[in-house]
Amino acid sequence: MNKTIFEKIILREIPATIHHEDDDLIIIDDINPVAPIHLLIIPKKKIETLNDLNAEDTELIGKMFQAAKKMAIKLGIDKSGYRTIFNCNEDGGQTVYHIHLHFIGGRSLGWPPG
Ligand code: 5GP
Repeated sequence: MNKTIFEKIILREIPATIHHEDDDLIIIDDINPVAPIHLLIIPKKKIETLNDLNAEDTELIGKMFQAAKKMAIKLGIDKSGYRTIFNCNEDGGQTVYHIHLHFIGGRSLGWPPG
């Protein structure tokens, strides 16, 4: 099966700005940021979409949100605020089929999204 861009980043086959890495996750800058802070929190386990989550992935998803919270504190935007988003499939705007949590902040964000 072809590797996604995120698997290639995890394997260091292509470069990325890495903010954090552990056994389960990698956190990188989005190459095309939509705000002053735009990180991608990516599990090392390849799960194509949110629809493919199993019960065994529950802890992993929790770790992704714990990582978001820690990054917010580290970057000093926990009080001002930020947004976390999973896009799913075409209507959700998903373009990379390896789940990832967008972490966006550093400016006031509009609502609803387009
Ligand atoms: P999606 O549209 O699937 O929710 O989000 C995919 C994200 O990956 C997009 O925001 C896009 O800018 C980002 N992205 C695509 N290719 C690369 C890449 O090669 N490096 C990095 N760091 N981000 C990428």
